Amino acid sequence: MEHYDFTNFSKTREDLIDGKYSAQDLCAFYLKKATNEDSYNAFLEVFSESALELAKGVDESIKSGSTGRLAGAIIGIKDNMCYAGHKVSASSKILEGFESLFTATAVQRLIDEGAIIIGRLNCDEFAMGSSNENSAFGNVKNPLNETLVPGGSSGGSAAAVAAGLCMATLGSDTGGSIRQPASFCGIVGLKPTYGRISRSGLIAFASSFDQIGPMTNSVEDSQLLYEVMAGHDPMDSTSAHKPIGEGATKDKYTFAYLEEVSESPGLNPEIKAQFENKLSKLREEGHNVIGVSFPYLDHMIPCYYVLTTAEASSNLGRYDGVHYGVRSPQSEDIPSTYFNSRTEGFGEEVKRRIMLGTFVLSTGYYDAYYSKAQKVRRLIKDATDKILEGADFIISPTTPHPAFKIGAKSDDPISLYLEDIFTVQANLAGNPSLSIPMGQTSEGLPTGVQLTGGSFEEKVLFRGAKILS
Ligand code: GLN
Repeated sequence: MEHYDFTNFSKTREDLIDGKYSAQDLCAFYLKKATNEDSYNAFLEVFSESALELAKGVDESIKSGSTGRLAGAIIGIKDNMCYAGHKVSASSKILEGFESLFTATAVQRLIDEGAIIIGRLNCDEFAMGSSNENSAFGNVKNPLNETLVPGGSSGGSAAAVAAGLCMATLGSDTGGSIRQPASFCGIVGLKPTYGRISRSGLIAFASSFDQIGPMTNSVEDSQLLYEVMAGHDPMDSTSAHKPIGEGATKDKYTFAYLEEVSESPGLNPEIKAQFENKLSKLREEGHNVIGVSFPYLDHMIPCYYVLTTAEASSNLGRYDGVHYGVRSPQSEDIPSTYFNSRTEGFGEEVKRRIMLGTFVLSTGYYDAYYSKAQKVRRLIKDATDKILEGADFIISPTTPHPAFKIGAKSDDPISLYLEDIFTVQANLAGNPSLSIPMGQTSEGLPTGVQLTGGSFEEKVLFRGAKILS
């Protein structure tokens, strides 16, 4: 196979059933691409052998007439998801040499429907970042302009889809890590409702925020991957038992925009203009567009960074040179093992967050920071739900700016944290949220529009996304 024009998963599946080509041919084609054409540093490893093995199984399933819904779907996974017998590192030196002992439920569900996992993708270390510059294995380049970041933390996952190195990828989103890179690379990214997709096998960053989600070329493919992965999993006690409903279908929907977002001084003027155009178009089509006040915009980033660093400092306690990964050769006793392994194994940003998190949880500061932030989170959740009582969706630009230059913000963590201003609300509140392409700037850079819906209303969210696309 010399060339393959991917349209969507259903078409690929049909073509396989019609015998136009085999899953093994398709897999070999993409393996070659991911190996030879990845000038972006998106893939950390290509799983050639196991991918061909899976493809063989798919070809057999087609012969026996038991073709899965994702037959022949060539998928890459972010390097923070376990896949038995394969390395996983969360793009950190501290997990060097570590191999997964089991497969993440989300990944297994894709495989069970005929998907072929072709490799693991670069990301910010432990998913902490917005530019993929915090990876221990080098930054990722944006395929649309190689001098720019692809966004983060799922930067490799976004770049691989945008560059056509695979058909779709999985990312994880704690504060925007699926939607922001999707927006920077011109693709579709979904963060499902907290609890909708199992976190079993996802390397934890901030457990009450993390969600796995699809990064795809189209809304249609996003929905299919979502449907395959969603649902209760006994391996994750926070995964919801709620059935995956259809949600109400309406002719006309209500889109609420946050006045504070539209008036935000940091919003790039081109993005602002495109966003206003979107709203006008929705009005012309007869949808309801309402402006609502959301007085917590300025509190979201502090609240998010207090809570996620607290959770991260606790989650990352397990990387101590004893239980996982590397042990410093300088280790002589327990304290020096912990101290040196962690000093050598973690990167700067991860250390910064562990220290910040330890601080906000420490005696004397717990009430002032951690408890306070929990209360602010509740206010944000209640205000979000209230808006969604009077509207089907909250609509906003996904990010305040388009992709920026590699290195432009690397020595200014606060300005990087501010990149998440529009995305963290959905994680603080737990609601589903997706980013789809909105347009292009005068420099040809993609921009994204974000829709956030009611909890467990992903199907409605996809309808909204189709209206917008
Ligand atoms: N950029 C955010 C952070 O650095 C989001 C990360 C994420 O969603 N994993 O925390």
